[in-house]
Parts: sequence; structure tokens; C-alpha cells
Amino acid sequence: MTNEKITSQQAMELEDKHGAHNYHPLPVVLERGEGVFVWDVEGKRYYDFLSAYSAVNQGHCHPKIVQALIDQSKKLALTSRAFYNDVLGVYEKYVTEYFGYDKVLPMNTGAEAVETSLKLCRKWAYKVKGIPENQAKIVVCDNNFHGRTTTIVSFSNDPDGYGDYGPFTPGFIRIPYDDVDALAEALKDPNVAGFLVEPIQGEAGVYVPSEGYLAATYKLCKEHNVLFMADEVQTGIARTGKMLACDHENVRPDVLILGKAISGGIYPVSAVLADDEVMLVIKPGQHGSTFGGNPVAAKVAMAALDVIKDEKLAERSEQLGQLLRKELNAIQSTMITKVRGKGLLNAIVIAPKNGKEAWDVCLKMAENGLLAKPTHGDIIRFAPPLVITEEQIMECVEIIRRSVQSFE
Ligand code: PMP
Repeated sequence: MTNEKITSQQAMELEDKHGAHNYHPLPVVLERGEGVFVWDVEGKRYYDFLSAYSAVNQGHCHPKIVQALIDQSKKLALTSRAFYNDVLGVYEKYVTEYFGYDKVLPMNTGAEAVETSLKLCRKWAYKVKGIPENQAKIVVCDNNFHGRTTTIVSFSNDPDGYGDYGPFTPGFIRIPYDDVDALAEALKDPNVAGFLVEPIQGEAGVYVPSEGYLAATYKLCKEHNVLFMADEVQTGIARTGKMLACDHENVRPDVLILGKAISGGIYPVSAVLADDEVMLVIKPGQHGSTFGGNPVAAKVAMAALDVIKDEKLAERSEQLGQLLRKELNAIQSTMITKVRGKGLLNAIVIAPKNGKEAWDVCLKMAENGLLAKPTHGDIIRFAPPLVITEEQIMECVEIIRRSVQSFE
């Protein structure tokens, strides 16, 4: 069974029968990827306009990143952190210089990196800021998405995210997103230790805050001795047209949270970066992960970050993002009510037409050779791998146009 070729139908039935039902995928079964393309088991080719939620910024199966994985996994894959290895320190030097921080704490998934930043912030609150024991609070935003752990869903306001998972972790204050005054109000509480924010809310539907929001909230945090913690798991690594979305406003977060594309989607790698005053509050034995910072992850991440610079993917993302939004805005359709985004992290908002909604548009686009997924019912995110060309963008706009207009 394991080596036999299976049909799409068989693959979907197997997942349905043997896997937990915690996802609702589009009915497409993929078996191969290269650059901006993926192919299904019947050999049909699609443009990938999701990029595994922006993990595959460098394109599917980038040869340099795959080679790094192969070479290191043949030599030494995992030691745990009980011993040193000859790759981790090299990576730590590389990644801290790359992003300009004193230290990095390596983890595997985005949620783990967010958890790490929350623990770091709380410990800093007690050890450095001087907040009384167990009183530290962290400010978060409405409609946030930071992952799926019990603590993280404790401060989600999406009923699918938190429903029936209580009791919840206390110590979080939720304020409206893109509201500087709301943060100013929350910071009047002297027990606030940190502000955790997505520079653009990806999962919520690619909500881009007003210009100046990041700079203004960062400034407020500085004034109140509060850590500005940017969750750049989805927005980072060139996705929005700069290396980090915070770079658009020249904000350097106190705690930088990275995941997804830091590995080019080849391997689960995440990271928290901070300076010594913050990072060194965690002492040996106080946090960790068996796989975090393993030699394969370290090599893969270095290759993935090299590719971003070598192929100038931030510049490409900025340029082609502008083109994509311009072309999407020019599509004649009453179904597309809004186009928004930054770099190649974009979304359209769909108004139902003749009983057809965003899900149907996605099915139609898949039929026409482009894969995207609705979020929150009426929003479709468009986030192709950053290696896409101008010509390909134009071809994709044509697929999108044809698909939405088929319902008019
Ligand atoms: N933070 C943000 C902003 C995200 O978009 C995501 C994933 N969509 C996560 C955290 C969680 O990452 P992971 O799924 O790797 O745990």
C-alpha cells in the first residue's frame, strides 16, 4: 500500500477515515511541488497562491534548501541540547547577525515560538521590570492568531479557536487592533509587561493596520517600559515586501518571533530573537525543546535565509505585490468588494453572488489551475511563493478574473 500510487479520491477517503477531522481542505490532492507550482496526483498543475500559509516564500522544494537538508541529515540530525553540536552556534551567529539581535532561542513551530516569547516576557517582568509575582499582564489584539496551544487560544476571540478548550490561562488584556489609544489606555496598568502584535493580521484576513500604527505602539511601549513583541511568523522573511513587516515603519521589536519561511517550508523551524537584557532571564533548564536548534534545522534555516537575500525576494515581493493589487483592482466584478495587502501578502473580500461564495470561487480557481483558500468565510488570501515572475502574476490574475466572472 505505502508505495502504490493512489487516486485523489482514495487519498481523501483515507484522510477522512483515519485522520482527525481538524481541517477542511480544498478537494485537491498534491504530490509534487516546484517553485510556484504544485501538481496533483492526476498530474494537473496549479499555481500555489497560499504557499503553506507563507511558509514556502522561497518556492516549493528550493534546490539549495533541499540540498542543505540532505547533506546535514546524512551527517548528524539530532543531538538534543544535552550536548553541543558543531552547527548550532554557527547558525546562532548567522541568524542574530542577519536580524541584528544579541541572542536567538531556537524552537520548531510558530506556536512554540510565541509561547517562548510569552514566557520570556513574564520572566523579564519579574526579574527585570519588578512586577509583583504572578501579576504580569500581556496586551494582545482582537482577532489575533498566534497559534493553537492552550495558553495562546486563551486570548483568542475566535470561538473556533478557543471554544470548549477552557479553563483558560489568565494574564492577557485584549484591545482592538489598529487602535493606538486603546493601547495607551491599557498601558496605564503598571503590571503590563508586554504587547504582542501581528504587524499585519494574516489569519484574520490580511488586515493591514493604518500607517504609523507599529511605530506609535512601539513608542508607547518604550515610554512604559513594556516589551514590544512582534509575531512575524506569517509576515516575516520578505513576505510583505521587506525582510520584516516591522521594517516598513523602522520598528525594531524587543522580541521578534519568526517561523514558517525561516526554513522555506522544508522543515519546522522557528526562532525568538531578543537582546541580552531580555533573553538572559531564562537560565539553563528553564525552557527548551528536544528538536529546537537541531543541526538539520540550523542548516536548513541558513540556506533558506541565504536564498531570500541571494534572490532579492523582499524587493520582488514589494514590486510584484503592487502589480498584483493594481491588476486585481482592475478586475470587473461585483463579487470582489475589496483588495488589500502589502508585498505578496494580499486578500480579496468576496460578496456572495447567485448563491456562490468565496469557497465556490476557490473551487473554480482550482479548476482553472490556481490554489487559494478562504478564511473567515468571505476572504480569500493571495500569497504566492515570492519567486513568482511578473508574467506568471499576469497569468494568475487572468485565472482569478475568469473564475470570479464565471459567477456573474
Ligand atoms: N503566528 C502567526 C501570525 C501565524 O500566522 C501562525 C500560523 N498561521 C502561527 C503563529 C502559528 O504557527 P504554527 O502553525 O507553526 O504553530
